Amino acid sequence: MATDETTLPTTEDQWRVRLTPAEFRVLRQAGTEAPFSGEYVHTTTEGMYRCRGCGAELYPSDTKFDSHCGWPSFDDAIPGAIREIDDRALGMLRTEIRCARCDSHLGHVFRGEHLTAKNTRHCVNSLSIRLDATTA
Ligand SMILES: [Zn+2]
Repeated sequence: MATDETTLPTTEDQWRVRLTPAEFRVLRQAGTEAPFSGEYVHTTTEGMYRCRGCGAELYPSDTKFDSHCGWPSFDDAIPGAIREIDDRALGMLRTEIRCARCDSHLGHVFRGEHLTAKNTRHCVNSLSIRLDATTA
């Protein structure tokens, strides 16, 4: 992936150059990585999870929790960082979440599961995010 995150691609062809094929499939084509396959499923390192498409700050590591669902899960996001869209793709209504800055697909958000006090689970593909670890 390109290190220059200041200018955003304007076409899908530009995104294709910028991302790996696996990243492109998830971020730009709303793909889903296989459960328990992502690099951040069990990560507990402190830091900031950023959008892999544009570098925007999305999830502080203290919002991450172990949901046992196979994908990194967060119960809150940086205010304004996430956009929610109705997704009826699988014959049911789910809520897709995208990066508000670059419109890349992140995953889905689920509410009412009572997994955390905030009662919210942002189920995010590891390929959609990159951890910016806090350096002590
Ligand atoms: Zn983004």
